[in-house]
Amino acid sequence: MDRIHIKNLEIFAHHGVFPEENALGQKFVVSATLYTDTRAAGRSDDLTQSIHYGEVSQQIQNFVAGHTFQLLERVAEALAEELLLTVPRLEQVDLEIQKPWAPVGLPLETVSVEISRAWHTAYVALGSNLGDREAYLKGAVQALAETRGCQVEKVSSFRDTAPYGYTQQGEFLNGCLRLRTLLPPLELLDRLHEIEQAAGRERKIHWGPRTLDLDMILYDGQVIDLPELTVPHRDMQNRDFVLYPMEEIAPWVRHPVLGKTMQELAEALRAAEPRA
Ligand code: ATP
Ligand code: CA
Ligand code: CA
Repeated sequence: MDRIHIKNLEIFAHHGVFPEENALGQKFVVSATLYTDTRAAGRSDDLTQSIHYGEVSQQIQNFVAGHTFQLLERVAEALAEELLLTVPRLEQVDLEIQKPWAPVGLPLETVSVEISRAWHTAYVALGSNLGDREAYLKGAVQALAETRGCQVEKVSSFRDTAPYGYTQQGEFLNGCLRLRTLLPPLELLDRLHEIEQAAGRERKIHWGPRTLDLDMILYDGQVIDLPELTVPHRDMQNRDFVLYPMEEIAPWVRHPVLGKTMQELAEALRAAEPRA
């Protein structure tokens, strides 16, 4: 992607672990790389189609001078989030925050923290088979939309599905949504669990009845294999109630391990066991 650089912006601010640093202040030096598509502005010569680096520089100055944190890590994290949330067309930001007068008591030139943060795309499957199923699914969509650093971009239609695995239970209502998110995968998983809990989810029988089940289906093109999180969801290719809604909102998105698009996976399943 194209990049706009802001290099060595000097800001007087009050971050630090020592009380004297918070009281007296010192110099910080910020460099930012803004990732955005400059093609439209490059063709039109129209600033409104790009990112205004003057305004962003001012915003960095105001933010860094206007807060007091202990750690450079915190300054960088909070500033990256602020920029990604407020600057239109900004897809990723790399930030370096230097502290040339850091009270280390040794002749170093500068210390700095450098981070890279970006918007990501995740797909989440929703299911409910207890109580007002539609209200639970709609509530989950709204809870995600109201989560800081999450934007719900697309929601599939909701469809009835016969229960899977443990079949002695009511019909499910299922759907999928596309999320633009600043949350890394494990934080998104935590957030999904919180929303399930708030909907009164109880974990009794595996695959048993539940008010709300939120599964992470895809996260960018990442392959994640952790004890608490597997992405892509390890059984998605066998589930019509995941693949049919995914086919609806993301037909050309490719499964990073199986190499097939959502449409191809859905078609394979339809051919294998025609139901719905
Ligand atoms: P299934 O995952 O087969 O649909 P389930 O949804 O009924 O089963 P849960 O009881 O909701 O299973 O979740 C059990 C655990 O699965 C969660 O606590 C979570 O840590 C883990 N898990 C692993 N991968 C994922 C994922 N992609 N999305 C959600 N949870 C996951
Ligand atoms: Ca599930
Ligand atoms: Ca689950």
